[in-house]
Amino acid sequence: MEQKRAEVIEKIKKAKRIVVKVGSLLLAGEGTGIFNELANEVNSLRRSGKEIVIVSSGSIAMGMKKIGSKDHPTTIPERQAAAALGQTALMAGYENAFANFDIDVAQVLLTNDDLADRRRFLNAKNTLCMLISHGVVPVINENDTVAVDEIKFGDNDNLAARTAQLIEADLCVLMSADVDGFYNKDPKKYDDAERVSFIEDIDDFDLDTESTDTNLYGTGGVASKISSARIAAHSGAITIALKGGGKDFITSIFSGQIDGTVIAPKEDRLTSKKHWIAYSSTPNGKVTVDEGGKSALVEGNKSLLPSGVADVEGNFEAGEVIHCLDKKGFEFARGMVNYSSKELEVIKGLKSVEIEGKLGYKVSDEVIHRDNLVVL
Ligand code: GLU
Repeated sequence: MEQKRAEVIEKIKKAKRIVVKVGSLLLAGEGTGIFNELANEVNSLRRSGKEIVIVSSGSIAMGMKKIGSKDHPTTIPERQAAAALGQTALMAGYENAFANFDIDVAQVLLTNDDLADRRRFLNAKNTLCMLISHGVVPVINENDTVAVDEIKFGDNDNLAARTAQLIEADLCVLMSADVDGFYNKDPKKYDDAERVSFIEDIDDFDLDTESTDTNLYGTGGVASKISSARIAAHSGAITIALKGGGKDFITSIFSGQIDGTVIAPKEDRLTSKKHWIAYSSTPNGKVTVDEGGKSALVEGNKSLLPSGVADVEGNFEAGEVIHCLDKKGFEFARGMVNYSSKELEVIKGLKSVEIEGKLGYKVSDEVIHRDNLVVL
C-alpha cells in the first residue's frame, strides 16, 4: 500500500494534463482574490509544461450575487435564470485575472446529452484538444440553461471526471471549500472519523456514503465525489479530493504535499471507447442474455452472439448502446450493438451461420463485439 501510494504521488508530480474542478463556494466569496490566485498558479504550472483545464461551478452563486439574493433558487427556471445571469460574471472573473498573465480563457458549456452522443463527444474532445494546443485554458461548466434532469451531469464533480475521460487527463483535482477528502465515516456525525489519505482501489472502497451533504450553491457532496473518482479511475486518471483556497493551493499538489484524499487509477483502464460506452452513453434498449451467453461474456471475455440472446426490448438501431441483462433482470454489461432491435427479434437464439439465411444478409457474426462491450 505504501509503495503504491509513493508510485501514485510520483505520477502526480509528473502529471501533464490536469482537470481542476473549482466548487461554487470557493468562488462565491467577495472580491477577485480566488480568480487571481488561480491565474497565478495556472500560469506557473503552464510554465512547467502542464496543461490545465478548469471545470468551474459558480454561475448560480454569481447570478444570486448579481441580483442581491440570499435565498437559494429552488425551482429549475430560477436556477437556470441565475446561472445564465451569473455565467458572464464568472467568465469575466476568469478573463480579467488570466489576462494579467496574457493567458486566454475559453468558455465551454456542456450537457450530459452532448457527451452521450458519440459524434458530439468526439467534437467536444476535438474542440478542447484544439484549445489546449493553442495554449488557451478552457473553462467548462454545465450548460444549465438547457439542462433538465434527464440530461444533467448531476453535478460538476461528475462533469470534471467525464472531462478527464474526454481529454484523457492524467489527473482530476476535485477542489471545494467544504470537502477536504474522504473519511472512513461521516465526520459531521462521528468525532472519531478519520480521513483516508490514499485509496488504492476505489471499487473496493466501502464507505458510509450516507453523507450527501452539499452546500448552498453547488450540488456535489461526498457521495458524488466518490462516484466521480470511480469514473476518473476507470479512465486511467488519478483523482485528488481536497479543500481549495489559500496560497499555492494547486501548485503544492505537485510537490507531493496533498492535504486530502488521493485515489489511484485502475490498472486495467478501459479504452476511451469502452469508457464512453460504460459511463457517457445513454443506452437505448435491452437484451436479455441466457446463462451460457452471460458466462461467455463475463468469464470468457467473449462477444455476444445471437445464440445468447433470449429477449429483446425497446426500439434501437445498429450502432446504439444497449443494456445486457441476465435472466433475473440484472444489468451485467453494456455494449454497442451491430443489429437493430427489429433484426435481433428475427435472429435471437440462432447460430451465427444462420443469420444470413434468416435476414438475407449478415452484418457480423456478433451481436455485440467484445471490443465494444463492457462488463459492469
Ligand atoms: N453548474 C452549477 C453552477 O455553475 C454548479 C453545479 C455544481 O457545483 O455541481 O452554479
